[in-house]
Amino acid sequence: MTDTNEITVFDKIISKEIPAQIVYEDNDVLAFNDISPQAPIHVLIIPKCKRRNLNQLVESGSDSEIVALFKGVVKVAEKLGLKEGGYRIISNCGTQAGQTVDYLHIHLLAGKELGWSPA
Ligand code: AMP
Repeated sequence: MTDTNEITVFDKIISKEIPAQIVYEDNDVLAFNDISPQAPIHVLIIPKCKRRNLNQLVESGSDSEIVALFKGVVKVAEKLGLKEGGYRIISNCGTQAGQTVDYLHIHLLAGKELGWSPA
């Protein structure tokens, strides 16, 4: 997958053109509830940096952007009080993994005993 620089729904959520239930935001990341939750807690964490090859983890920009993204994940988990019960993070990269939005994002799932059947 190449970065087409097409405007995605997540670009529009960052620019506030599309509303979202924002869970956490700082200079580097935005986290909001998934519109189609797959668990009681299903949050998407995305980098706010200008998109340059940032549609997948493997194509990501600088180390600092990726570190900031994962720090964002931890901040969301802390804010939602998930340290005790735990949580899962997933990033779908490409068609076979089921990526539907061409903008790097991390799914955070929690709130119940999660199954394990990605196949
Ligand atoms: P993926 O399939 O890994 O690319 O994940 C994209 C996710 O974005 C899906 O889980 C969708 O439910 C979610 N999604 C799409 N549009 C919106 C939206 N407007 N607000 C919140 N989540 C969305």
